[in-house]
Amino acid sequence: MPVTDASTQASAHAPPAAPLLDIRALSVDYLSRKGAVRAVDRISLSVGPSEIVGIAGESGCGKSTFAQAALRILPPPAVITHGQVIFEGQDLLTKDDEALRRLRWKRVSMVFQSALESLHPTLTIGAQLRDVLDEHTQLSRAEKDARLVEVLRLVDLDPGLRHQHAHQLSGGMRQRVGIAQALLLQPSLLVLDEPTTALDVMVEHAILQKLLELQRARAFSVLFITHDLSRMLQVSDRVAIFYAGELIELAPAPALRTAPKHPYTQALLRAFPSLHGDPTKLAAIPGAPPSLRTPPPGCRFAPRCPIAIDRCETERPALVQLGAGHSAACHLAK
Ligand code: SF4
Repeated sequence: MPVTDASTQASAHAPPAAPLLDIRALSVDYLSRKGAVRAVDRISLSVGPSEIVGIAGESGCGKSTFAQAALRILPPPAVITHGQVIFEGQDLLTKDDEALRRLRWKRVSMVFQSALESLHPTLTIGAQLRDVLDEHTQLSRAEKDARLVEVLRLVDLDPGLRHQHAHQLSGGMRQRVGIAQALLLQPSLLVLDEPTTALDVMVEHAILQKLLELQRARAFSVLFITHDLSRMLQVSDRVAIFYAGELIELAPAPALRTAPKHPYTQALLRAFPSLHGDPTKLAAIPGAPPSLRTPPPGCRFAPRCPIAIDRCETERPALVQLGAGHSAACHLAK
């Protein structure tokens, strides 16, 4: 039962001329007594109005760190060491805490993997949602209640659930509450960090379908993070592939699915079951990503790459444009 495919409905998606979110050369280090570890290395990525941009890659590739750094919600010991994050024309990295507080929920919201951890254990669902409305709106109590009912219905939840606590709900219901909270103030950008990873496949399908339906109806932009490339290709307009803290391929979803340029992307596609393909023909990627403390001096994928040449061991490949909106960082990609 495939989620209705966003990418096949879109024409070849080029990067937006006037992005809503424009992340430029963002670097993030984790500090420790042994020194700094660069988890995100000068990654640039934009999201256009009403666009869904996916970020995929193995665990530890930097995708969540990148998104959380861009939203300035990454706690120490992580530090942003370089870059700009231009959102609706303003650099979020230069904003003070109060300016950021006003933007969150209202202009940009985030849904995390585990709603149980992001929902308050002792407050009812309604009280938590009302807190967001109290902080950001001047609505009357009756208007807030009406908004709560409306947003819970929007994600196909019984409005009566607002009187319950998070632990009384199933995992799928809690994720829907997380989405309802994120949509409460109708932000222009939603960041979804593995929003359905902890759920079973049927619940995941239903929630993704609902999110797509809402995105089309309300035309908000989405930055969608997942390790599941098959799901990513279904729902995204453009897809960015991260590897060991670097952006190694960026392309419209149809181009990435049918003509991936980077050997890592090709290997990832073989490692994930296509929703219509034969699950017995999967191939794991041999080896493991490199340590970010001591990454290889040349291409970071070289130790696992089946077509590596001598140059790959010493020379780091730059991300270069290879087609319409399609770029890759590989010495041999054409
Ligand atoms: Fe493989 Fe070399 Fe391309 Fe890296 S640069 S992906 S090692 S061919």
